Order: sequence, then structure tokens, then C-alpha cells
Amino acid sequence: MDGVLLEDGFPADRLFNQGYSYTYDDVIFLPHYIDFPTDSVNLSTKLTKNIDLYIPCVSSPMDTVTESSMAVAMAALGGIGIIHYNNLAHEQAALIRAAKSRRIPFISDPIFKSPSDSIDSIDEFVPSPCIFVTESGNSKSKLLGVVAKYDWESLTEKEAPVSDYMLGSPFSAPSNYTFEQAAAILAEKKLDYVTLVSEPDGEVVDLFTATDVERVRGFPKLGLPSLGRDGEFMVGAAMGTREHDKERLEHLVKAGADVVILDSSQGNSIYQIEMIKYVKRTYPELDVIGGNVVTAYQAQNLIQAGADALRVGMGSGSICTTQEVCAVGRGQATAVYKVSSIAEKSGVPVIADGGIANSGHIVKALVLGASTVMMGSFLAGSNEAPGAYEYQGGRRIKKYRGMGSLEAMTKGSDARYLGDTSKLKVAQGVVGAVADKGSVLKFIPYTMHAVKQGFQDLGALSVQSAHNLLKTGVLRLEEQSGCFLSQLSYNIRSHFFVGHRMQPALML
Ligand code: NAD
Ligand code: IMP
Repeated sequence: MDGVLLEDGFPADRLFNQGYSYTYDDVIFLPHYIDFPTDSVNLSTKLTKNIDLYIPCVSSPMDTVTESSMAVAMAALGGIGIIHYNNLAHEQAALIRAAKSRRIPFISDPIFKSPSDSIDSIDEFVPSPCIFVTESGNSKSKLLGVVAKYDWESLTEKEAPVSDYMLGSPFSAPSNYTFEQAAAILAEKKLDYVTLVSEPDGEVVDLFTATDVERVRGFPKLGLPSLGRDGEFMVGAAMGTREHDKERLEHLVKAGADVVILDSSQGNSIYQIEMIKYVKRTYPELDVIGGNVVTAYQAQNLIQAGADALRVGMGSGSICTTQEVCAVGRGQATAVYKVSSIAEKSGVPVIADGGIANSGHIVKALVLGASTVMMGSFLAGSNEAPGAYEYQGGRRIKKYRGMGSLEAMTKGSDARYLGDTSKLKVAQGVVGAVADKGSVLKFIPYTMHAVKQGFQDLGALSVQSAHNLLKTGVLRLEEQSGCFLSQLSYNIRSHFFVGHRMQPALML
């Protein structure tokens, strides 16, 4: 290169100041110059002013996306999971504690029954190989035995009590066993599973299965896990901005939450500004993420209130109907660029939330100014997402729903709205399903590799260097025509879906 840049394409400040609202698919980067290998790209980044992550990935606080298994897996990969709050405060706190109690990214959340419960009461989609029978039907009492999955599945007489089919207590190991210690027991004793119990009270903490061994051993290592100040996996939690959320916050802090997100579609409100100030006043050590915002004005207000990071996106989610219902929002590429431009001046990191359907969207979000991406649908079909797989039209799927869908609001109404069922609820989200994608431990590393290839094409060695290249006008963009987009979707349909397994990073 002779150092002279030939004028081509548009610098970001020109493209994004023409009065158009662009989504990720509306824009494309022009390739720049490569003088380093893909593996040199470093994607480590900031979630908030005070929290560093090894990879720029955050799982969304939705009840079909993030509970303990997802939070553990995301932290093991070097990202973070944010536990949803469509539950009672003590239930959310228990999910945080469960995630923090793990050393290994297991999936299996043990299911408990009492001896008198009927076989019928066992959910047919329970993923684990057994259920635990305890005196009171929960984890906080003595383990009496187990019922094996093949037993309850083969039964025709499902009204029978669980005790009729109970086997003796299974082989157990201490819950502080390392992955290799637990795996060695399974191999040595030729077991399908082993229970991990706390000492000295003997409560069942977890279930470690042979499938877990394969899943955890198989995942390509990315680097360092995300650990909190307590040395446990880092876990985030969502909360609202109502008065009773102050009590929830106390539960979250006691459970060890490392960061909280104030979860709202329109964060620029007196409610949120006061809650940010309350969190910072009451727990100065706890980072608080404000949002959602899509404009510089909204962002400025939350930054002034003390937000440690901003979550960006209104109407961008795959299950979102906000733009149709309320006529407000912004194209996600424009929103990320505009908010990042202002947040960067105060050193406040931006989380690009929603609309991530492939690795290219992650590249776009990060280069346009975000420090991390928050994903819902991209993760909802994984083994680690809550819920069991079902079959629909011959495909294995998992349910995925908006937190503003009627179904989610109704589930949360007792807990979140404290029984306030008298008010009209207008849905801003829908209920859907996503295809089985396997484990995040596998497809996130592939996705990160694809993101690194995108960065290499742009000549960006890191997230910060991508931001600088964009700001200085070195990186150039163009708007994509509608024809280009329909050609793209035709290519994907004809080449990837016909009897061909897609690359995990590209699967929807
Ligand atoms: P929200 O709790 O912020 O708002 C619900 C309603 O409560 C709003 O009218 C708000 O003004 C009001 N409210 C909040 N605090 C209050 C207080 N202290 N006193 C009085 N009124 C108060 O939640 P939401 O915006 O409806 O979002 C619900 C869920 O759906 C969240 O999980 C959110 O992420 C998701 N959602 C996201 C988007 C998006 O585009 N990102 C859009 C819709 C919904
Ligand atoms: P996705 O990754 O495109 O599926 O979008 C996930 C994001 O959608 C979440 O992180 C939320 O910001 C947003 N979201 C969640 N529930 C709703 C809803 O009911 N309506 C609108 N947006 C939602």
C-alpha cells in the first residue's frame, strides 16, 4: 500500500446522516486491507465501564433464553448471560445461585418430585435421564431415590405414584468435584449419570451425565471464562423500574449478581433515571446497564444519570412488534451507530441488542460502535436455553417468545405486575419457535471465528481498532439495494436449506 486511500464508498458519518433508518441488512462494509492472520484478531471487550469480557456475547434476559444453564455456558465461553425476571425475586435469585454454584457448564437442571406425585406429573420433554425423588419434592430435603426416564416413558398406567417406580439412591459425588474427576467416575463405574451433592447436608446440587462429558469435552476452547469478583462464573440479572424492584434488587445482590440491567423498551424515562441513581447510591460497586435507547438524546440522559453501559435497540428483535404497535423505534444499524457515537465520548460501552441472525450482523454491530451484542433468537434453539425440544413438521424446535408477548406477560403477571390483572395489556411481541442448534459451547466458538474473519477483511485487529477505523473514515460503507437483498436470500435458500446442514454460525 502506498498509504493513499482512494475515495470509494461512504464514511459512516455521511451514510448515517441522510435521514434513513438502516437495519443491519441495509448496509455493507467495503473490504479494506489485510496484513495479519485471522487468529491475531482479539475480540475481548467491555460489557460495562468496569466489566471486561473475553468475547463480545451477551444472552438476552428472556425466559426462553437465559436461566442458569445458559448463564453458565456464556460465562464459560468468556461472555455473559443475563437472567430474566419473569418470575418472583427469590426464584430469580435461586437461578443466579445455581449458576454461581457451578464449576462446569452442565445443562441438566435436576427435576424433583415427592413420592406421592403421579408419574403423569413428569413433563414428557424432561431432557435428563432421571428425576429425583425427595421427601418434600424439592431439592431442599432428603434424597430417597430416582425414577429412570425409560421407566416413566414406557408406562401406560401414568396415574401410578412415583414411589412405585423408584430405584434406590444413585451413585453420587461431592459437588465441588472438577469436570475431570466427575468424568472419571462415570467412565470407571460405567454409569450414564452421577449426582453431585453438597456436603455435609447431602442436597442434590446437580446431575452430571455422559452427554455432558461429550458436550463439554467437544467444545473448542476460546480463552478465559468470565469470573466475578467472587471467583465464580459471572452472572447478570434483569430487573424493572417499579418501586417493588428495589426489593428484588436486594435479592439479586445477595445472590451475587455481578451486574444488573434495567429492562425496558424505552429507557429514557423518569422511572429509569431514578432507578439508575438508586442502584448507584445503594450499591456503588454494582454496575448498572440502562436502556433500551436508540437516540443520542436518550443515551445522554441515561449516561448523565450514571449508567455504566447502554443497551441499544427498539423494534429490532426478531419477535418484536413494537414498531408496528407503537410506531416508534429505529433501524438497528443506525441506532447502534448514533448511540455509540455519543456514548464513546463518556467511555460508556454499548450493547447492540436484537436483530442478530448471523455472524455478519455481529461484525456490523461491533464495527458500528457496539462493544458487545445481545442475542435472543440466535441462542434460543440451543441445548442451554430453557425448555425442552418439541417436534414441528419433522423438525426439532424450541419455543421462543417475546417478553412483551401476551403469553409471557400473563405468565409474569402474578410475579412482575404483582397480580395486577385489571389493566389492559397490549402485546409488543409474539410467540414463535426456533430450530435446534445444538450446544452454544460449540456454535459460539464457530461464530466468533467467522466474526474474526470479518474483522480481518476490514483490517481491524480488535473491537477498539474497528471503532477507530470507522471514526476516522478509513472504513467505508454502502447501502444495499433491495435486489441485492433478495438475491442474498435466494442464494441462502437454494444453497443451504436443500438437504444440506448449514454451518452452525449461519443457522437461524
Ligand atoms: P417496562 O417495565 O419498562 O414498561 C412497562 C410500562 O410500565 C411502561 O408504560 C412504563 O412507562 C411503565 N413503568 C415502568 N416503571 C414505572 C414506574 N416506576 N411507575 C409507573 N410506571 C412505570 O417494560 P416494557 O418496555 O413494556 O418491556 C417489557 C419487556 O419486553 C422487556 O423485557 C423488554 O425488553 C421487552 N421489550 C423490548 C422491546 C425492544 O424493542 N427492545 C420492545 C418491547 C418489549
Ligand atoms: P433477537 O435476538 O432478535 O431475537 O432479539 C432479542 C431482543 O428482543 C431482546 O434482547 C429484547 O431487547 C427484545 N425483546 C424481547 N422481548 C420482546 C418483545 O416482546 N417485544 C419486543 N422486543 C422484545
